[in-house]
Amino acid sequence: MLKIGITGGIGSGKTTICKVFETLGIPIFYADTVAKQIMTTDQILMDGVRATFGEESYLEGNILNNKHIANIVFNNEKELIKLNALVHPAVFRAFDEWDAKLPKHLPYSIKEAALLFESGSYEMCDKNILVTSPHALKIERVTKRDKVSEEQVLARMGKQFTDKQKLKLADYLIENNESKSIILQVLDLHQQFLIMK
Ligand code: ATP
Repeated sequence: MLKIGITGGIGSGKTTICKVFETLGIPIFYADTVAKQIMTTDQILMDGVRATFGEESYLEGNILNNKHIANIVFNNEKELIKLNALVHPAVFRAFDEWDAKLPKHLPYSIKEAALLFESGSYEMCDKNILVTSPHALKIERVTKRDKVSEEQVLARMGKQFTDKQKLKLADYLIENNESKSIILQVLDLHQQFLIMK
């Protein structure tokens, strides 16, 4: 079964586009959601977090001490790299397990990840899609959706590759700019993936 990666900057609309693929019966692995879940379920990851950031990384009952971790990695690039080096391989493991359980007749599955290119995850996919949106539209969408300031959105954007960098690594582009139909763009790619199967 083909493995398709999909990514895009914050607020580009990758989750919205995945919902369209879902209506076509395509299973989606939401890597960012899974990354949060496995912080309290993946024993290798939890052991690594404890060893790297201290026993206080978890509260009683294996509850993640978000505040403790956030205090360490917030604005500290070195520590954030250490955390990502623990989380990304764990997400890769979770994806492989998830993918192996999918019905074999399906034409392809999709992995949606904000840091698909930054984490190296794209190398494990057969093809990768980049979703782009105009800068101002992304800011407008995210400030509305997350009730955050423009500065906070810009800070989150600063941690990701630029679209220019991502374009070099992508095989396909979906433009979510409110003038091109995202449904038609998804249907077009779907047809291409069915032929590739
Ligand atoms: P993040 O990286 O922050 O998770 P994302 O790339 O997954 O963001 P979405 O959550 O899909 O982006 O979209 C951001 C917001 O913009 C959402 O509230 C979504 O409903 C809205 N949105 C995205 N695309 C469109 C569109 N084509 N038309 C209208 N609203 C849209």
